[in-house]
Amino acid sequence: MEQVRAILVILATLAAIACAPAARSPAAASWHLVPGTFEPNRGPDGNSIFLDAPDGLILVDTGRHPAHRDQLLAYAAERGRAIIAVVNTHWHLDHSTGNREIRAAHPAAELYATDAIEGALVRFFPRSRAAAERFLASGEASAEQRAEIERGFSVMDDPDSLRPTRPVTRSGRMAIAGRPLRVNVARFAATAGDIWIHDEAARLVIAGDLVVAPVPFMDTACPEGWRRALDEIAAIEFETLIPGHGAPMSRPQFLAWRSAFDNLLDCAASDAVRDACIAGWLHDADAFIAPGDDRRIAEMAGYYLDSRLRAAPGGRDVWCRA
Ligand SMILES: [Zn+2]
Repeated sequence: MEQVRAILVILATLAAIACAPAARSPAAASWHLVPGTFEPNRGPDGNSIFLDAPDGLILVDTGRHPAHRDQLLAYAAERGRAIIAVVNTHWHLDHSTGNREIRAAHPAAELYATDAIEGALVRFFPRSRAAAERFLASGEASAEQRAEIERGFSVMDDPDSLRPTRPVTRSGRMAIAGRPLRVNVARFAATAGDIWIHDEAARLVIAGDLVVAPVPFMDTACPEGWRRALDEIAAIEFETLIPGHGAPMSRPQFLAWRSAFDNLLDCAASDAVRDACIAGWLHDADAFIAPGDDRRIAEMAGYYLDSRLRAAPGGRDVWCRA
């Protein structure tokens, strides 16, 4: 049952989050956000971000659904520029399903990612797939859910579409497509290997799922490693942070979100009752939760409390090692 619920959380998430267009400042003119989706009864798409580089376009994350892919291809066509680098902030399928089709259309594109996909191929995907197959066999899946799940299977069947051609193994400065970036690796955070990007010239942070506006998606999370990654982000200067899901944040907004995250972990580690931790999240993260979405977000926070933060010994840190 837990696996079924886990995959439903990832595959068939929750109410729509308001994904406002990016508040653009002059310093941010060299990037473009294609907002993700977070609609009822279907899996989310993560945010995708284009960066203009001297040699072509860099695309950070490729979404899940065909409609999101089409927006990405349309933007590149409108710009008349080739995508020559794809970066996956992490391997979750709401950020990487589009890899195959984007790279088929832009065959020069290298794929930058960590090697955490190798662990996912042997651990998460087989369990996730078995749970999804049981869900399909139950007959409860809608036609749209079935199509989405089968699209996910087709990616699992083509793991090379998720494997980096340019593995990112450690944090450091690098030029991607001629654009200087600081590319950071957070080990054992939202996944076993997350990438977050600091573009100093644009005063921009692309955080991937280290920041998920309405509630941290902890399905494959190591909570304490995640907390450390947020501390690293908080230590640098930036103007705008683009989360994995939700609208761009100013630095003060990010710091408020980080406080909410820290409070949730602290509450889970205390002897506070479950409902108090959930209420604390809803209060602290109120600015990041869409109107009317409280009940679903409370359910998710409760699910992560039970399945991760307050899981039986070994459960809390099950994703804290390779
Ligand atoms: Zn995500």
